[in-house]
Amino acid sequence: MSTTNNIENNYDVIIVGSGAGAMTSAIFAADQGNSVLVVEKSDKYGGTSAISGGGIWIPNNDEFRALGGNDSYETALTYIKAASEGSVEESRIRAYLDNAPKMIRELQANSRVKFAVAEKYPDYYQHLEGSLPGGRSMDPELFDTTELGDEMDHQQPASGNTLLMGRMAWTARQAHKAVAKDRGWMLMIIGLMLRYKLDFKQRKKGRRDRRAGLGGSLVASLRQSLCDRNIPLWRNTEFTDFVITDDKVTGIKVLREGQELTLNARHGVVMGSGGFEQNQRLREKYLPAPSQQSWSATPKGCNTGAALEAGQKLGAATALLDWCWWAPTLNVPKETSARGLFAERAFPGAIVVDGLGKRFFNEAAPYLEFGDAMYRNHQKTGNSIPSWVVFDSHFRHEYAMGPLMPGKIMPDSRVPKTWPESVYWKADTLDGLSKLINIDAAGLAETVTKMNRYAKTGIDEEFQRGGNVFDRYYGDSSVKPNPCLAPIKKGPFYAMKINPGDIGTKGGLLTNDFAQVVRSSGDPIEGLYAIGNTSASVMGTSYPGAGATLGPAMTFGYIAANHITANRATTAK
Ligand code: FAD
Repeated sequence: MSTTNNIENNYDVIIVGSGAGAMTSAIFAADQGNSVLVVEKSDKYGGTSAISGGGIWIPNNDEFRALGGNDSYETALTYIKAASEGSVEESRIRAYLDNAPKMIRELQANSRVKFAVAEKYPDYYQHLEGSLPGGRSMDPELFDTTELGDEMDHQQPASGNTLLMGRMAWTARQAHKAVAKDRGWMLMIIGLMLRYKLDFKQRKKGRRDRRAGLGGSLVASLRQSLCDRNIPLWRNTEFTDFVITDDKVTGIKVLREGQELTLNARHGVVMGSGGFEQNQRLREKYLPAPSQQSWSATPKGCNTGAALEAGQKLGAATALLDWCWWAPTLNVPKETSARGLFAERAFPGAIVVDGLGKRFFNEAAPYLEFGDAMYRNHQKTGNSIPSWVVFDSHFRHEYAMGPLMPGKIMPDSRVPKTWPESVYWKADTLDGLSKLINIDAAGLAETVTKMNRYAKTGIDEEFQRGGNVFDRYYGDSSVKPNPCLAPIKKGPFYAMKINPGDIGTKGGLLTNDFAQVVRSSGDPIEGLYAIGNTSASVMGTSYPGAGATLGPAMTFGYIAANHITANRATTAK
């Protein structure tokens, strides 16, 4: 054993980053008999994965089949190929489809991670062949963190918008039930509140719910599974470069609490250190302009592209560097990351307009498409960065928008004092609102007149909002004839400013079917693997369904571990 200051620095496998993909990889690598170390740059583990919805998109999964669902490998392949439009090698898509159901089956059987299938969560591109109205997205069950204890204090904390009333854990299925006002939603909320309030022991300790939900549940259950196996996870340990021996990656250099260390990896290094969305220099180099780090909904300062730059130095090929997992976001004072508007755009009675006061896209469309549309419209008109979400007092009373809870729970009088004219703008008339936010008043008036007509007929003649099952998923089922359309007529009127933000970058180091990083020749760089947003997405330019970033991150983490172990067996012969 060679050590530096009594620190073990030789491992079979080193995993960089502690998001869901990285921790999944660590679990499989350890279960296959490898000694494993996980290093994390931040003082908190979990990365964006911990603050996310935690959903994973697993076509052809066992749970859906057990419920009588109808999916197949071929249908899913047809769908992903149609969605990604040739931007990814088919063999990588096949590797995903081959391994994703196996990964989640084995992970659930052997670890603390537990998911339930979201039968009603539709794929995002309902117009494409092979899409399903539900059953491919899976949602983490609530996870009791009692056993994890104080270690939970070191987990990236859940963002307010993934908790019920900013405090209580819930599953995505429960959140959807409340948003869509499905039968029994009120009773369910009361039950969740009682469970939280009556947990006297935990309430004495503080506000944090004993149970974790969404991405918090996924990451806590993975962390607990690492603890069960005694897999070391070093926080405050930043990867800075690779160690190369005979053209092969044999280790990494890190800065650990100010000290430079060399760590040796006998069989492989798996880079799961996220993308580069928190690096303004790289944003300006690769992403469409304008682009701001502060528009990203990911944890501040975490994912700054160290793996990308170190990989490029080694001659690694890259792809999709001009793409993010786009999401319209807004900024809230005192919050370090932006907030994504995922569901609210579909609620009836809110529209998104540009500086001309015009709608330019279906507001209920998936967030990646909406962010992309903001850029495309901006390139044409110069007027949609920022854009504005506009709604009336009825909407304000009934529905949430970003940090603004429905007025019936959080009236304007109880909103933090810093929010008026930073988070939302308010005026008695539409004309007054247009002047306040400096957009074209006649344009907005015309847009609202049209929308009010569409709300009556139920047909959005311009963008077909509410015209498919995905749009309607977040609509209000009690609103007729179209759950995504309602008139905007009763003042005061409100506007909120949104930008084309992101929930991570989508491009990165190019990998093959085994998650190995490749050179432009296609040859792998021996010993080096990349997963999650460190790698160029297997979904190409598309976002086929909820969980299409974490599903592949975990699956390619599994694939990397399997490949390392198989290679190790071959070299030992
Ligand atoms: P991360 O989870 O961000 O992990 C990367 C880790 O690497 C970080 O902890 C970082 O600190 C660490 N790191 C970075 N650089 C270094 C270095 N030099 N040395 C050591 N460590 C380093 N996706 C889904 O699929 N389903 C969802 O439901 C979903 N919901 C979302 C909701 C929100 C609000 C947000 C913001 C995102 C959501 N996403 C979702 C997107 C998803 O969370 C990310 O795409 C995913 O977490 C990326 O995983 P990753 O492992 O690549 O990066």
